[in-house]
Amino acid sequence: MPSFHLLNVGYGGDRVASTISLIDAGSALIVIDPGMVSSTSVILDPITGLGRSPEEVTDVILSHHHPDHTINVALFPDANIHDHWAIYKNDVWTSRPAEGFEVAEGVELWETPGHTAQDVTTMVKDGGETIAFSHLWWYRDAPFHDPLCTDPEGLHLHRERVLEVATLIVPGHGAPFVPDDSTSR
Ligand SMILES: [Zn+2]
Ligand SMILES: [Zn+2]
Repeated sequence: MPSFHLLNVGYGGDRVASTISLIDAGSALIVIDPGMVSSTSVILDPITGLGRSPEEVTDVILSHHHPDHTINVALFPDANIHDHWAIYKNDVWTSRPAEGFEVAEGVELWETPGHTAQDVTTMVKDGGETIAFSHLWWYRDAPFHDPLCTDPEGLHLHRERVLEVATLIVPGHGAPFVPDDSTSR
């Protein structure tokens, strides 16, 4: 069963950092959104603190293409890189739709365009939790309207879809939160 570790709680404002997560799925060690941070040690130190190394990371998932979520992708030299339409490894580009793709047992990708046309949400079963790693929300009290949204209709549609099953949301630039009636849809 996958287990989830938060590597960095993201933020926005004068400075920008991505929320970055590590999922230990047994056969796979997965990083989600190795984006902007004040120093790469913010990403690497907690991984080594868990007794793992960047070379052991088998998969990196990009929630979308913005640099604040992708800029440190090369820290993991042996990883398959996943986005909305392909898997990338060295010079091999393998096209596939993200929707329903299982990166590992209990770790599935959903196509959730809204913030950008390239958005994917990573759905993870962790014990009784269903955790959604997603930029459909910037942070817990994200407003109804995403100021950088390219597809408002898709954003609201896919928020609804995720909220039907998610018990915990890990947003693009904030701490994980339990969705409730106040969560923007
Ligand atoms: Zn973005
Ligand atoms: Zn972002």
